[in-house]
Amino acid sequence: MEANTYTFKGLLTENGWLTNAVVHLDEAGIIISITESDTKQGEYINGYGLPGFQNAHSHAFQYAMAGLAELHTDTGVQDDFWSWRNAMYGLALTLSPEQLEVIATMLYSEMARHGYTAVAEFHYLHHDKDGKPYPNLAEMGARLIAAAKAEGIRITLVPMFYQQGGFGQPPVDRQKRFISSTIEDYYKLLDSSIESAKGYENASTGVGIHSLRAVKHEDVISICNALDGSMPFHIHVSEQLKEIEDSVAFHGKRPVQWLLDNCNVNNNYHLVHATHLDDNEVKGIVQSGANVVLCPSTEGNLGDGLFRFEDYKKYNGNWSIGTDSHVGLNPLEELRILDYGQRLISHKRTTFVTEGQGNSAFNAIKMAWQSGRKAMGAPNKEFFGIGQPFDAVVMKADSPLVATASLQNLCNTFVYSADASDIAGTIVAGKWIYKNGQSRETIVNNFVSTLTELGTRV
Ligand SMILES: [Zn+2]
Repeated sequence: MEANTYTFKGLLTENGWLTNAVVHLDEAGIIISITESDTKQGEYINGYGLPGFQNAHSHAFQYAMAGLAELHTDTGVQDDFWSWRNAMYGLALTLSPEQLEVIATMLYSEMARHGYTAVAEFHYLHHDKDGKPYPNLAEMGARLIAAAKAEGIRITLVPMFYQQGGFGQPPVDRQKRFISSTIEDYYKLLDSSIESAKGYENASTGVGIHSLRAVKHEDVISICNALDGSMPFHIHVSEQLKEIEDSVAFHGKRPVQWLLDNCNVNNNYHLVHATHLDDNEVKGIVQSGANVVLCPSTEGNLGDGLFRFEDYKKYNGNWSIGTDSHVGLNPLEELRILDYGQRLISHKRTTFVTEGQGNSAFNAIKMAWQSGRKAMGAPNKEFFGIGQPFDAVVMKADSPLVATASLQNLCNTFVYSADASDIAGTIVAGKWIYKNGQSRETIVNNFVSTLTELGTRV
């Protein structure tokens, strides 16, 4: 069918660029064949297709407070991660399911505009404003799936087990919307989430523990022991120094070390942040095959610290990117912030290459994609594999810097010099989910009236 054939000026494979690449898809958007050709077939796209970016860490509701929490006042309290968290709890307490859906719809539209084709929702805002479960336990998660469906982005909903307020501490009132008191409650929530995901062909589910401080250690071990690899496992870990101190005080071990010693950590694990690691933890994560999910714009915004990338890279550790609190939504910028943080402390320009040689942006795109796909619980063997859905971000071929770059400089031109205006559009399962310049009036209007009604941005 004509509608299922595209010809791209260029398409990125693991072995470099195909030029004049003809892509044949079946009606579901699954790749049947990709070949270089002398002729243009189907829809011609004057652009360069990259595998769609994978956003491996999102808290959708926090988008509503992006750009806030920067008016610092003299309250006598140091403004840090924990004061930011208080402001975030304030927002979490106010949102209705309808409001969450509107916020997530705007957010996912923005993700599509920036080239993300999939998002992992690290979701813990489960219950109603009084802390009571909704009749559908996964009501709030279902709203995220509905928003993803409206925008056509893939979603991996990862409902979080959140049980307590800190190591050995009961939850505080402000956390009441997050709480599953027992492991049985959590599994019910997970089952409802799996059920909700069935309503959208591009939705799937993962398993998650908010953090070691938020779940009793025996339940962490039970959840981990029950993992069978059929769903990805996500956990926040070692983001803040205080969390390390609290873990050492409670367990006698640092969080990652505790996890490595008590759970069968493997390549199905996605350790979000992992900012503060000692040498054994760096090696232990890599030896286990686990992945870290780095969120450079949020980690910078919250003052978390810099991940030990140079050491982790020496052992070929796996990593993906996420936008977390959504102060940044641009995958190219996430890669740049990650890279520049390392350059500033290493005084080298070789963050993404080994032994001083290689193509920085290509390597970064490849690693973020491979590990990001795993974070979604999706196949990750090769870009644009036969039998896989065709998900791509398309860069404009006629942007001035792109039009004048050789193929070997294209990926670097995108990552180090492009922004969203250089993106022609985003494709999921063979269908455009966003085209540059398309009107999003309804989505924007709904978002503006919902945020105005909430009154949280004044
Ligand atoms: Zn997070």
